[in-house]
Formats: sequence, structure tokens, C-alpha cells
Amino acid sequence: IQQRRSKPDWLKIQLPNTSEYSWMHKTIRDHKLHTICTSGKCPNAAECWGAGTATFMILGDTCTRACKFCNVKTGKPGPVDFKEPFRIARSIQIMKIKHAVITSVDRDDLPDGGAGVWVETIKKVKEVNPGITMEVLIPDFQGMTNLVDQIIDAEPEVISHNVETVRRLTPQIRSRAKYDVSLDVLKHIAGRGVVAKSGIMLGLGETQEEVLETMDDLVNQGVKVLTIGQYLQPSAVHLEVQEYITPEQFKIYEIEGLKKGFKFVESGPLVRSSYHAEKHINALND
Ligand code: SF4
Ligand code: SF4
Repeated sequence: IQQRRSKPDWLKIQLPNTSEYSWMHKTIRDHKLHTICTSGKCPNAAECWGAGTATFMILGDTCTRACKFCNVKTGKPGPVDFKEPFRIARSIQIMKIKHAVITSVDRDDLPDGGAGVWVETIKKVKEVNPGITMEVLIPDFQGMTNLVDQIIDAEPEVISHNVETVRRLTPQIRSRAKYDVSLDVLKHIAGRGVVAKSGIMLGLGETQEEVLETMDDLVNQGVKVLTIGQYLQPSAVHLEVQEYITPEQFKIYEIEGLKKGFKFVESGPLVRSSYHAEKHINALND
């Protein structure tokens, strides 16, 4: 069921050549914004941008962590740009986005981990775009739930925090983040009555049993939405892919996840945390 190393056909991606894509690119550049779509070298950029949707990345483009799977620039970030929340809100308005998905770099250099800018961003987006729904993919804030509370209080509809991989591989794959801290953050979010979402990447050497255990861990924290996708190596200095998981195996995980109690499982080779995000919220509201 699994194939090693050479990239299989099911990972072939669309090329970005539509006018909608170019317009999105220009709008994002003109507003001096960043997206995880480009910073993370997401394989779905042609599809999502072509359909007029993107995932914004706030708090600059430089992360204080350096996860070995992630293509986001790392190092010492520049000063906080307090005008960024308004530019995000305005771009979402121009793009006529109905369900906004926002993530951020980790800002362990800031006393509040960037929570203040997060809150401002959520408030501005809601103020400028009445009726919009929001999904925020947040960092772990080093487990400081008082900072997570600030975000919950700004009332996004979905709060996502990715565990990224199974427990055993976490120390090798994520920088500074701890599996149990992530679980605690998710438990806290779900405990406050907000839709909690998480995601994992496969193909990093995890076993099927470990994937199923991770699902159990997430369901037990109250996580309602799970995304599962194939890890792709963004450059030669990043972790190598250990295996390519077949679409059939992704389907098995989807079925297992639903049986375990998730309300929605998006599982497939090209699935990313924000892929088809509007579908998750619609399904939860049905
Ligand atoms: Fe951007 Fe998410 Fe779509 Fe990838 S899946 S292009 S990160 S919106
Ligand atoms: Fe990437 Fe890790 Fe930084 Fe998140 S915390 S942006 S995954 S380097």
C-alpha cells in the first residue's frame, strides 16, 4: 500500500496560470502580506488561488522556530507591524473571502507570543467584513493558555493547532514544540466550546498504529476536525520523505477517523491544514 521515494502520479499538481491566480498574487503583494500558500510552498496554490482563496500568514514572514519540515523563513523577526491587521482585513474584503483562514509564524521573541496582534487581526477582519467566518491556525504559545484565551475571546469560529506528526517523531520534526503541550492547547480550546481542529502530515516514518493513536489522542481532547496530508520535502535541506502514502490508505484513515468520533476528516495526499477549510465549517453547521 505504500511506495517509497520516487514521487507518484497522484502528487502531480496543477500549474498556476489563471488570471485569478495572478490577481491574487498582485493583491497580496500590493498589501505587503504573506501567505503560507507561498511561504510553505503549498502544492495547492494554483487550485486555491485560482478559486480566490488563500491562507494569510501574520506577524511577519520570519519564524523564531525552525521545524525541519517547514519552508517558512526562520531567524530573528523584524519589529511588529501594527498595521498588518488592517491590511489583512482589507485584502479579505477585496478578495470577497467568506471564510477567512489565517495562520502566523511563531513569535517566541514577543512577551505575548503575538497574541495581541492575533486579537487585533481577528477583530479587524470581522469589523471590515460583516458576516465572515474565521478559522485561525495558531501556534502553541508555549502552552500559555492565558494567551490562547485572548484569541478565544476574539471569537473566531474555528481554532486550529496542528500536532503535525505522531508522538514518537515530534522531537525530530518540530522545533521546540512538544506533543503534550499541543494536546493541552487543543483540550483548552475545545473545553471553551470552540471548534478545535488539528492536522498531521504523513510519510515521515510513522506507522499506521501511531497514526491511529494520534487520532485517539486528538479525539480525547475534543478535537472535531482533522486534516491528514502527505509531507513533501520543500528543499534539499529539509527532512526527506520516508514514504508516499497511497490515496487508498488516506481514505482508510478518513473512515477510521470518522469512526473514532471526528465530525470531519479531510484526508488525502495533497490535503493541507487549510485545504477546503470552508467545507469543514459548512459541514459543522449542517
Ligand atoms: Fe493556501 Fe491552504 Fe490552499 Fe495550500 S491548501 S494553497 S496553504 S489555502
Ligand atoms: Fe514553520 Fe515550525 Fe515556524 Fe510553524 S513553528 S512556521 S511549522 S518553522
